Amino acid sequence: MSDLAATTKQNLLDLDREGLERFFADELGEKRFRAHQVMKWIHHRHVTDFEQMTDLGKALRAKLHERAEVRVPQVQFEKPSADGTHKWLLAMDGSNAVETVYIPDKGRGTLCVSSQVGCGLNCTFCSTATQGFNRNLSTAEIIGQVWVAARHLGNVPHKQRRLTNVVMMGMGEPLMNFDNVVRAMSVMRDDLGYGLANKRVTLSTSGLVPQIDRLAEVSDVSLAVSLHAPNDELRTRLVPLNRKYPIAELMEACVRYAQRKRGESVTFEYTLMKGVNDQPEHARELIRLMRDFDNRLQMKDAAKVNLIPFNPFPGTRYERPDDAAIRRFQKLLNDAGRIAPVRRTRGDDIDAACGQLKGQVMDRTRRQSEFRKRLQQGGAGAVA
Ligand code: SF4
Repeated sequence: MSDLAATTKQNLLDLDREGLERFFADELGEKRFRAHQVMKWIHHRHVTDFEQMTDLGKALRAKLHERAEVRVPQVQFEKPSADGTHKWLLAMDGSNAVETVYIPDKGRGTLCVSSQVGCGLNCTFCSTATQGFNRNLSTAEIIGQVWVAARHLGNVPHKQRRLTNVVMMGMGEPLMNFDNVVRAMSVMRDDLGYGLANKRVTLSTSGLVPQIDRLAEVSDVSLAVSLHAPNDELRTRLVPLNRKYPIAELMEACVRYAQRKRGESVTFEYTLMKGVNDQPEHARELIRLMRDFDNRLQMKDAAKVNLIPFNPFPGTRYERPDDAAIRRFQKLLNDAGRIAPVRRTRGDDIDAACGQLKGQVMDRTRRQSEFRKRLQQGGAGAVA
């Protein structure tokens, strides 16, 4: 049970515009525009105390006190990095915390948001996977990560913003927590929420084919796919989900997604691991795969590739390739006409680089005793 949903009062952070309008009409007997006022107070001004919502009448404030609350995740620990990256460890309940990371870059600021406490998909190169899975985050816990970061950054819609993009790429597989993620992404894109353009909200999945199709029906966000290997034999070793949804099926789902989005590109993430998937033959297979995707959509650069040098973490069997190997891999793609930026390692002095998010997970199946031990050793800081 989520602490952010633990009382009988309705946490307003759990509701998108539609849900809030319904709550105001059905539960409070109030007009829609009141819901809009409250949404602005919460997401634009970061106010959680109804008493400070000064354009609401006294009677409505009293009703809200009685029936509702705005409960945000508690910052357990935060750490700025020398390169401007900022990491928060946010307590979601008495025993679980997730990490959220803000990464500034030229003209943009991206927040990497978590969707689950831990993850059960067991990708063999992933730090989060080593912690097992505990539970899905609620909508409040997902949008609460954006709320905490936006407040810290002084983010104000319609002015110059420091938070311009959100990627659902933190801990967890977002499509395993479909409804809560879709609702939270709706608040991210709502003008009464964070006002981000569809293209600036990206959902990254390891390849749950039916849910990609479902997402295409209900949302217009950008899609990124954790590919990491150009053939089934290798991908199954890295991303076990591939056994269920092999590459051909996954690529078909991506084609359908892009077609429904009227030719939007799809990004394929490829984490480079030394001696595993960084060889020229892998690059050539990847080029063929990407070319097929472009051809299916009859669109140049329909498939975008992001190369991510592996970030080692304690206990992993994988290594980061050396710079020459990364450049060689990239050059093969470039020579084939494929833009393939290498993601700069950011925030690695605070363990905030891609694949390093760990949080604090109480896995009901495997990790309970370890969690207690860590807490005894000094709480969140010891875990992060
Ligand atoms: S890479 Fe993503 S889907 Fe795979 S185990 Fe890690 S968090 Fe889960």
